[in-house]
Amino acid sequence: MPKLRVATVWFSGCSGCHMSFLDLDERLLEFAERAELVFSPIVDLKEFPENVDVVLIEGAVGNTEHLKMLLEIRKKSKILVAFGDCAVTGNVPSLRNPLPREEVLQAVYGTDDPPGLEEGEVPKFLPQALPLHAVVPVDYFLPGCPPSADRIWTFLRPVLLGQKPVLSGPDLKFG
Ligand code: SF4
Repeated sequence: MPKLRVATVWFSGCSGCHMSFLDLDERLLEFAERAELVFSPIVDLKEFPENVDVVLIEGAVGNTEHLKMLLEIRKKSKILVAFGDCAVTGNVPSLRNPLPREEVLQAVYGTDDPPGLEEGEVPKFLPQALPLHAVVPVDYFLPGCPPSADRIWTFLRPVLLGQKPVLSGPDLKFG
């Protein structure tokens, strides 16, 4: 049986969801038997590949690079998972949403026009940090800040076995 092609992606998030993924510990051995990690912050590949079976995306859509990449990822992936509360709701990155972009820049950099923040130098802030489903269809929502390793495995193991994952009860809690 061919291995499942799995990707993980890091948008506007703190990497806590990826840390939780690494907390799968010995379960990573079973993961490695059944899946190939074809793209991830922990894999040094620059281009998102074609024909991805499952992609877990951490973080909100916060800038123009995320937006462009998310549209590309959706086209290239069969199952797209909002991985953690920032991806599911906007969570922490969306705390800036009530404020104008200039006010956020002023508070962080002391100027609303800091050098090096123009499009082409770094990706431009979107006016709001968005949850994934505000941009593309999402197949599964995996809440938690971060989702615990047990919760990730409850979701991921059936997927690796070609079954439909079902999250219920405490596994649907935010925070
Ligand atoms: Fe970090 Fe929580 Fe957002 Fe995950 S959901 S990226 S742990 S703030």
